[in-house]
Amino acid sequence: KIIDGKAIAAKIREEIAAGVVVLKGKGVTPGLAVVLVGDDPASQVYVRMKEQACEKAGIFSDEHKLSAETSEAQLLALIDELNRDPRIDGILVQLPLPKQIDESKILEAISPKKDVDGFHPYNVGRLVTGNPLFQPCTPYGVMKMIEHTGIDLTGKEVVVVGRSNIVGKPVALMCLAQHATVTICHSRTKDLAAQVAKADVLIAAVGRAEMIKGDW
Ligand code: NAP
Repeated sequence: KIIDGKAIAAKIREEIAAGVVVLKGKGVTPGLAVVLVGDDPASQVYVRMKEQACEKAGIFSDEHKLSAETSEAQLLALIDELNRDPRIDGILVQLPLPKQIDESKILEAISPKKDVDGFHPYNVGRLVTGNPLFQPCTPYGVMKMIEHTGIDLTGKEVVVVGRSNIVGKPVALMCLAQHATVTICHSRTKDLAAQVAKADVLIAAVGRAEMIKGDW
């Protein structure tokens, strides 16, 4: 049975659009700022998709495309401006950033209250302590798909392959919050096949197709 992520996403988008209508009725237009530095082709596609999604949902989208030569100070100045801009409720800085910019410095400069990617250490800490504010979108999407299957994670053995800050670690924490017994595997895991075999639920976040073999 294949989980139909597109159908789930369409339903969520509808719910969000309806929520925006309610907010607008109260005189509030939610605003999202998306910042892209450089011309990474994949990032350009992601940013365009985010803009289109905002447009369809009635969210004000404020896009900032900066050159690959942008300095850390220039980007910090823009973030400071967006943090103080009352039209902006959420700030997304598209990763990866060019090498002259310290990624963690940028993520820490975003106001935790506008950190809709959930990468600021404040929001990471809230996820760890089981009191999340903003949660990273990719693992959150994974949880929405699991929820859609109707499977209760309580007491289940969940094995996560991948330990990145963006996907593996947060999805493991989200499963733990739903009372699963969680194992996190990565490139130094000794016997991945054995770990995978014990799973009731397996989440692959490696970025390589068919890494998990059928006979595992
Ligand atoms: P990543 O940072 O490259 O992390 C990959 C993880 O897989 C690492 O923890 C790595 O272990 C582990 N790994 C690599 N080879 C392994 C092996 N042979 N055995 C076990 N573990 C292994 O990738 P990511 O950012 O987490 O992304 C994961 C996937 O999610 C990718 O397919 C990416 O495209 C997708 N993604 C999608 C979205 C979206 O919005 N749709 C957003 C982000 C990511 P080490 O830590 O030991 O190196």
